[in-house]
Amino acid sequence: MPTRSPAYPHRVSQPVLQPDYARPVKARRPARAARLGVPPYDPDETPLARTRRARRMARELAVIHPDAHCELDFTTPLELLVATVLSAQTTDKMVNKVTPVLFARYPDAAAYAGADRAELEELLKPTGFFRAKANSVIGLGRALVERFDGEVPGNLADLVTLPGVGRKTANVVLGNAFGVPGLTVDTHFGRLVRRFGWTAEEDPVKVESEIAVLVPKKEWTDFSHRVIFHGRRVCHAKKPACGACGLAAWCPSFGIGPLDPELAARLVKTPAASDTE
Ligand code: SF4
Repeated sequence: MPTRSPAYPHRVSQPVLQPDYARPVKARRPARAARLGVPPYDPDETPLARTRRARRMARELAVIHPDAHCELDFTTPLELLVATVLSAQTTDKMVNKVTPVLFARYPDAAAYAGADRAELEELLKPTGFFRAKANSVIGLGRALVERFDGEVPGNLADLVTLPGVGRKTANVVLGNAFGVPGLTVDTHFGRLVRRFGWTAEEDPVKVESEIAVLVPKKEWTDFSHRVIFHGRRVCHAKKPACGACGLAAWCPSFGIGPLDPELAARLVKTPAASDTE
């Protein structure tokens, strides 16, 4: 049935098929950041008010993205560590295409340490930057054999000493392979929490420490997945789907993307299409 939009009563539109996670937005005017072009972070918002707003938004994200999870396929900490290193500059889907053969050919750290570089590069080619990635993976294998008896350490301090492993990769491995809560500050995460007005920081380490005080520790891993899903599906870098975003009521950036519900709904990506960024 054609309907009239409450936000755009002049418009009679056909219903748009939306993924379940696109939630209706109550009509309201764009937020300050969108109207005036000012940063969404409000230094005058009290820490208590910001924490309450953040927790409300985090709860809503859990409703919007109940299926959020680590999209890399793995069965062991080593597999996840390698897959995460390979995921730089490519999609998780592409990594998942390469890893079944890779994991079968290199079952442990010693196998990576002794890998034939040319053969490994050939396997990694579809993921891009394959020479650098082959270097990283061989270096990882050697470091694990030399310093950790071939096992992936289950703590941040040791993980970040491994070649090619920064805090982001370490937190992915801790959160998903060891059950140790971790915040994964990738480009989606950083962009979104700044749009949420939760931080004004650009540096991922500072972003991580500011968000850590807003979100309960036990939720860090799932929360990271939900934010990243939201970044992939709804709050895109170029055209965020504000008019179809379930966080609109609490987001100080509401209105930086299209508000027309029909147009916004068309910007929302389905799960299958969202693994392209
Ligand atoms: S899509 Fe718009 S309203 Fe939703 S989180 Fe992003 S900027 Fe805020």
